[in-house]
Amino acid sequence: MARSECEAGMKMMEELTTNAQQIQEQVLGEILRRNAGTEYLSGFLHGQIDKKLFKNNVPIVTYEDIKPYIDRIANGEPSDILLAEPVIQFYRSSGTSGGQPKLIPTTAELANKWPIFRTLLQSVMTKHFGELDQAGKGMSLMFTKPAIETPSGLKATSVSTSIFKESGFKTTLSKLYTSPVETIFCPDTKQSMYCQLLAGLIQRDEVVTVGSTFASTVLRAIKFLEDYWQELCSNIKTGQISDWIIDSGCRNAASLIMKHNPDLAYSIENICSCKSWEGIIRKLWPKAKYISAINTGVMSQYTAELEFYGGGLPLVSGFYACSEAICGINLEPLRKPSDVSYTFLPNMAYFEFLPMKKDCVTISQDQAQFDGLSHHESIEMKTNNEDTEPVDLVNVKPGQCYELLVTTSSGLYRYRVGDILMASGFHNNTPQFQFMERQNVILSIDADKTSEADLLKAVTEAKTLLDPLGFILTGYTSYGDISSTPGHYVLFWELKGNEGSDVKELDPKIMVECCSKIEESLNYIYKIYRKENAIAALEIRVVKQGTFDALMDYYVSEGASLSQYKAPSCTKSKEALKILDSRVIGKFFSPKTPI
Ligand code: AMP
Repeated sequence: MARSECEAGMKMMEELTTNAQQIQEQVLGEILRRNAGTEYLSGFLHGQIDKKLFKNNVPIVTYEDIKPYIDRIANGEPSDILLAEPVIQFYRSSGTSGGQPKLIPTTAELANKWPIFRTLLQSVMTKHFGELDQAGKGMSLMFTKPAIETPSGLKATSVSTSIFKESGFKTTLSKLYTSPVETIFCPDTKQSMYCQLLAGLIQRDEVVTVGSTFASTVLRAIKFLEDYWQELCSNIKTGQISDWIIDSGCRNAASLIMKHNPDLAYSIENICSCKSWEGIIRKLWPKAKYISAINTGVMSQYTAELEFYGGGLPLVSGFYACSEAICGINLEPLRKPSDVSYTFLPNMAYFEFLPMKKDCVTISQDQAQFDGLSHHESIEMKTNNEDTEPVDLVNVKPGQCYELLVTTSSGLYRYRVGDILMASGFHNNTPQFQFMERQNVILSIDADKTSEADLLKAVTEAKTLLDPLGFILTGYTSYGDISSTPGHYVLFWELKGNEGSDVKELDPKIMVECCSKIEESLNYIYKIYRKENAIAALEIRVVKQGTFDALMDYYVSEGASLSQYKAPSCTKSKEALKILDSRVIGKFFSPKTPI
C-alpha cells in the first residue's frame, strides 16, 4: 500500500473512531429502517423504527433462537422473513450449533464491508512497518473449503474462502503473496500446504511477512516443514516436483515458479539440518519483518512456541472478526500478544455489550482451575449487581467484561456471538477491547471449540462401553496437549472396578474403543480438523485410584474451599498435570479418524 493510501486509511480510522456514537446510531437506524417489516422484527417492533422500542422489545438471542428462520431460508423460503436484503450466500462459522457449523446469512452489503476492513487493516500495518508490499511478498498460508449447497441452492462457505474467492483479492494475490491461487484452492490440505511452503521457500528472499489467520496454522506449517524439508529441498535441487502432488492446479502452479536451484536448496538444507529449530522462521525468511497470526484468545496457548520459532520477530495479531461481523483492528501491532487490544469499527455493525455479572480481573492460571476455567488468564467471579442491561459501544467502562452482541443488516438482531471481551481503553471515542475468552470453551487445539457440556456428553457416551465390564469412571479431567504438533486432546480417567476387578485387567481394546467413541461424539469441526490431521488422535490416560483425591488435596492446599471443590473438567496447571501424569498406569489412543 502506498503512503498516500495509508494516510487516507488512517484518516478514515480517525473519523470513524471520533464519530463512533453518531455512526452507531446511523448503522442501527438504517438496519431498522430496512428490516422493521420483516416477519421476525415486525413481531417485536410492529413496523416502528425506534431505538428505544428496539432495546425494550427485541430479545437477546443465541443462534439456536434464530436457527428456525435461517433453516427456512436455507430450505428455500424468501429471505425477507428475517432480513430485507437478498441473501447471496451463507458463511459457515466455526462456532458449532448442535454439532453443525452455524450458517450466517450474507448479503452483498455485508460482503462489501470486507474490502473496507482490509484497507483499514493494511493502513495500520503500513503505518507501522512501511510499504512492505513494495519491498516484497507475504508468505501467508491460506486454505479454503469447497462450498456446500443448501436445498435452496444458496452456497455456504467459510468467510475466509469467500474472501479469497473475491475477484479483487484474486487479482492482487500474486503481487502480494507467495502462494499461487491454485494452491490456496486445492481441496487437499496436504498438497496445498506442501506447495505453499515450496512457493514460500523458492521465493524466500522476497518474503517480508510470514503468517496465517491463526497462530495454530503457522505452527502446523512449521511441523509440516520438519517432516518435509528434505523432500522440498530435493525438489528445489532437481527442479522436479514430487510425484504425489497430483492436484493439477497445484502441480501446474508450482511448476511455473519451480527452477532447478541447487544453491537455494543447499542453503535451506543447512538451516533446517540444525539441531535446534529456534528462530527457524527468521533464518529461512531473513527479510521477514513480522509474523502475522491471531494469537489472542484460545490462540494465546501458541505464543511461546511461535516466539521460539520466530527468533525475535514480532507476533502481530491484527484483527478481531467473526463470520457474524467484523469487529476490530489492533492499532498497536507491535504490542506483545498478552497486551493486545482491538479498537472496534463502528461502521461494521451495531454493537452492544452485555455486562458480565462479574468484573474482569485477570488471575493466575492455577487460581483459574478452581473455577474450572481453562484460559491461562481467566475471569475472576466478582459479583456486580449494577448494569445488567446491554450498553452501547461508546458507553462501556474500562476494566469491565462484556459479552458481545451484534445487530447486522444481514438478519442478526441482538445476537450473542459467544465471546467475552474486556474494555481496556479508548481510541478517540471508540473503545478498545482485549479478547478474554470464548464462552464455555474448555478445549481447543485449532479452530475446534469443545465446551464443558460437549466433553461431558462425549465422556458419558464412551463410558457406557465400560458398564458391561464392571468398571465405573470415578473422575475425569482433560487438557489440550500442544507439546507436539499437531496437538491433541488428553483425558485423564480414574476407573474403579466393582466387585474387586482390577483396572490392570482392563481390556486395552475397550479403552481404544472409548477413545474412538469420544471422538465420534465430539462436534463436526473437531472431526474436520482431525481428518485433516490438524489435531492428532485423542488419548485417554488411565490413572491410579486415588489420583483425583490427590488432585483435590493439591487444590485445597492452594486455597480452594473443600466444600465448593469440584474437579476441573479441564486443567492447564503444571502442578495438577504433574500429579496426574505421575499416576498414569495406561495410555490409549484413538485408532482412526472419527466418522
Ligand atoms: P468464525 O466465525 O468461524 O470465523 O470464528 C470467529 C471466532 O473466532 C470469534 O467469535 C472468536 O471466538 C474467534 N476469534 C476471532 N478473532 C479473534 C481474535 N483476534 N482473538 C481471539 N479470538 C478470535
